[in-house]
Order: sequence, then structure tokens, then C-alpha cells
Amino acid sequence: MTPQGHGQTAGGGCEYAGGEPDEMQLKLQRRMASIHHTVMVLSGKGGVGKSTVAANLAVALAERGLRVGLLDVDIHGPSIPKLLHVEHRRPEPSADGGIAPIAFDMGIKVMSIAFFLPHSDEAVIWRGPRKHSAIEQLLAETDWGELDVLVVDAPPGTGDEPLAVAQLIPKADGAVVVTTPQDLAVIDVRKSITFCRALDLPVLGVIENMSGLVCPHCGETVEVFAGSGGEALARDMGVPFLGRIPIDPAVARSGDAGRPYLLSSSDAPVAEAFRAAVAPLLDLDADREAVPAS
Ligand code: ADP
Repeated sequence: MTPQGHGQTAGGGCEYAGGEPDEMQLKLQRRMASIHHTVMVLSGKGGVGKSTVAANLAVALAERGLRVGLLDVDIHGPSIPKLLHVEHRRPEPSADGGIAPIAFDMGIKVMSIAFFLPHSDEAVIWRGPRKHSAIEQLLAETDWGELDVLVVDAPPGTGDEPLAVAQLIPKADGAVVVTTPQDLAVIDVRKSITFCRALDLPVLGVIENMSGLVCPHCGETVEVFAGSGGEALARDMGVPFLGRIPIDPAVARSGDAGRPYLLSSSDAPVAEAFRAAVAPLLDLDADREAVPAS
């Protein structure tokens, strides 16, 4: 795999530079062995704030003094480089022949599939196996060094791509499911939880993002989307509800400016909501068990 603009095939895809698949698997296992914890961030659909939660979770973990990696494998909408304003940087080869992640603030190491994709305004039209091998190669080649925790911004939904990620990282601590309050989004959360259970992936909790709008003038919360079933659904399915994060124009602005919200507005009330929602995830040694499918 080579950074964007180098070694792309005529179809605009990644160059597959690895050996036999079993070699790749071994390489991947060796890489994963130096990562102590892995937390996946999932969502039933795109646009609910999954990447925003992943980026801010990485910051909250780094604030604890942990060695954090942030991996973006959202193949059709990789937005972590933009959210961290590293989209113009390119990963360099690492000392051991792999690829070195980009160094972000607070020592956070960042890798995104976006660095290896065709130009950002082109759609990725790859068949399933190609996507799977691109994700596998990214995991096998990225030289994270020793990490306390890797936060994975996974592809949305419950299809082949999140499945590939969950299968390629079989020892993940669990998944956080991000949703918005609309009934339609909540239905997708049910599917995401079922997906995790089918894969024995513990559900660390559900975060309801864009849950009401805090009026910048009067401070009152305005409900924007009908429904607020995230909490009821989490209870119903026996998984933790981690909290609600309101819509805040400052969150969107921080995303556009490439500065995670917790770094740019650390004292704002919505930052408190963010911190409260991710707080249970910061205890990496908590006992987590996969809830069996019912
Ligand atoms: P996803 O990863 O689910 O596709 P993103 O994290 O990329 O979603 O977020 C989509 C857009 O919504 C981004 O512009 C982001 O800045 C914005 N956003 C996310 N959460 C909030 C929030 N709580 N308030 C305001 N804007 C938000």
C-alpha cells in the first residue's frame, strides 16, 4: 500500500504490495500484539457523528496520559484526516519497513485509509475482496509501536466492511455505537448491536449524538429530531447507555477547522456532555463481556 498519488493502479485503487495472505495475517497479528486495547466506534448509518466521537474519544484517552492510536477505516467516508487537519500530510515509511502513522497533538498517532485512496472527491468503487484486503493491509503495515489503546473509526452499517474490520481485529475490547435520536437511526442501532453480538464483540455502550440543540442565545435545549429512543433501546437490549451529546454549532465548526472539539472548547457545557459520555470507556481494564445474542 502506498500513499495517495504513488503507486495507484489505473482503476485508482491501492497497490497490493504484500505477500501471501497468511503472511499478511501473521504480520497483522504481530502488529496487533503491541496494542493493549482496541475500541471500535460503530454506527448504523453515516453522518451521525461517529468520526467526531472517535476523534474526541482519542483526545479524552490521551488526556489520561495513555498512548493512543486513531485508525480510520471508514472506506467510503474517511473523515478523520479532515477532522484533525492532517489531510495534506502523507505517512512515511517506518523503520521496520511498514508505514508510520501521522503524529497528532498529545502524542495521538493517526492512520487513515484516506491517505491511500483516490482523490477525496472520487467515490471508491471496489468489490468486497479488494476492500477487505485494503483494510487488512492497512492493519498489517501500520507501525504503531506500543499503544495502550487503538480507537477504530469503523465503516458504518452492518455490511461487509465493518464485518471485515471486526474480523480482522478479533480481540477488540468492544464497540461503542453512535446514533442520533430519530426512530430510523435507532432501528439501525438495534442492527448494530445484533451485529456485535453475532461477532462476540462486547457493546461498550450507545451514545446518542445530535440529541437536541442547545440554543446559543438562551441556553434552552430545542429537540430537533423526533424520538429519543437510544436510551430505551439500550436498556431494552441490555447494553449501557453512555449519554446524550447535543447539537452544538461549535462541534461542527471544530470539525471544519480540523481541531477536535475537546481540544478547542474544553470548558463548554457540551464538552462536559462529551466527557461524561466517554468517561466509562476510559477505564480500559474494566471487565467487559460480550452479551450473547438473544
Ligand atoms: P460520521 O462519522 O457518522 O459520518 P461525522 O463525525 O463525520 O459523522 O459528523 C458529521 C458532521 O456532523 C460533521 O460535520 C461534524 O462536525 C458534525 N457533528 C457531529 N456531531 C455534532 C454535534 N454534536 N453538533 C454539531 N455538529 C456535529
